[in-house]
Amino acid sequence: MKLPGAPFLAREAGELRLEGHALAELAARFGTPLFVYSRQAMLSALRAYQRALHGRRHLVCYAMKANSSLAVLQTFAQAGAGFDIVSGGELARVLAAGGEASRVVFSGVGKTRAEMRQALQAGVRCFNAESVPELDTLNEEALALGCRAPVSLRVNPDVDAGTHPYISTGLKGNKFGIAHAQALGAYRHAAALPGLHVVGIDCHIGSQITQLSPYLDALDRLLDLVEAVEAAGIPIHHVDVGGGLGITYTDETPPDAGTLVRALLQRLDERGHGQREVLFEPGRSLVGNAGVLLTEVLVLKPGFTEDGGKNFCIVDAAMNDLVRPAMYEAYMAIEPCSQRSGPAESWDVVGPVCESGDWLGRDRRLAVAPGDKLAVLSAGAYGMAMASNYNTRPRAAEVMVDGPRVHLIREREEARALFAGERLL
Ligand SMILES: *Cc1c(COP(=O)(O)O)cnc(C)c1O
Repeated sequence: MKLPGAPFLAREAGELRLEGHALAELAARFGTPLFVYSRQAMLSALRAYQRALHGRRHLVCYAMKANSSLAVLQTFAQAGAGFDIVSGGELARVLAAGGEASRVVFSGVGKTRAEMRQALQAGVRCFNAESVPELDTLNEEALALGCRAPVSLRVNPDVDAGTHPYISTGLKGNKFGIAHAQALGAYRHAAALPGLHVVGIDCHIGSQITQLSPYLDALDRLLDLVEAVEAAGIPIHHVDVGGGLGITYTDETPPDAGTLVRALLQRLDERGHGQREVLFEPGRSLVGNAGVLLTEVLVLKPGFTEDGGKNFCIVDAAMNDLVRPAMYEAYMAIEPCSQRSGPAESWDVVGPVCESGDWLGRDRRLAVAPGDKLAVLSAGAYGMAMASNYNTRPRAAEVMVDGPRVHLIREREEARALFAGERLL
């Protein structure tokens, strides 16, 4: 079986290794739960977009909500990426990591006035606005600061991305964007506001998309609008096709980034829009397969249910560390760090949190014993970024490997830090 995360993740002589580093050793050295990322895997994923876009005016804006750890942002900033942010906090992180505001697009369905001011003062490249009232507020804030806000309108193209309902965002019934039918009116409105400067159009139709066709349908819908808006005398500079490209967790076969980019560029050319600057906002596809979550087996409870049918493998990582299985019933591959001989049995791999939804994998064939280290694969996206302190569990540490080097990029949280801001009566 090809491991998700290959070739950076590989099993050699029974040992699971990331960029050559034995994961069992990293778990022993830094403790568990532990996220480990491959810097080369991240750079390789970014380069796949950049290579396919070579020769075009473009910007790949890493959708940092997928993994916003500073060293991850630094890695992408140094490699020439911009950032797609969804909060003022994310903007602060980009700047702390050495990223440039002029390469930041600010997305999100509910921006506060304070966030708008922060982003205007920093000088972000573009606000991706999602409603007419947002345009009005942004106009007011820009005028109060004596500047003009660069805006793009996020259009809801009403295409089905064919993904989980919670991560589908481009359908009429979703909260995101401006309805396609109202977009021309919204552009006229924006163009008439003195504090705004229309610069682009954008969409984002969902996440973990494994087909090309929804992207092409969405692009066609965007280009129809670009033509209508420009015919109304409002020039549109860039087209931002959003993110959402899927990765392999188990047997998904998404197109690779190069294939996606080339298909979209070809459609732009065919429709006479080849000169436009193109923006992408990939999140998961840049980091998902670059990371693993390491955990230790605490207790085994074989034959636990009445019919003797269920085996529980209780590990020290939980839904607070990695919520995707609990939240989306997401499948994530689980592999022993060091293979042991002996018969594999079927285990539900679950955490210690007091919720029946606290599971990482169900019915997994594993040969395990207490003390073994397991790796949850493809955990680089929406893992640490969604981690919480539920059950007063300190968040995991994070390590980034880079060729021969091993960097601790986030210390394990300490329990007392979790209540440091609280006050007794
Ligand atoms: C979440 C998000 C992305 C990134 O989605 P991925 O599926 O991680 O690629 C891009 N753009 C916007 C506006 C988003 O909200």
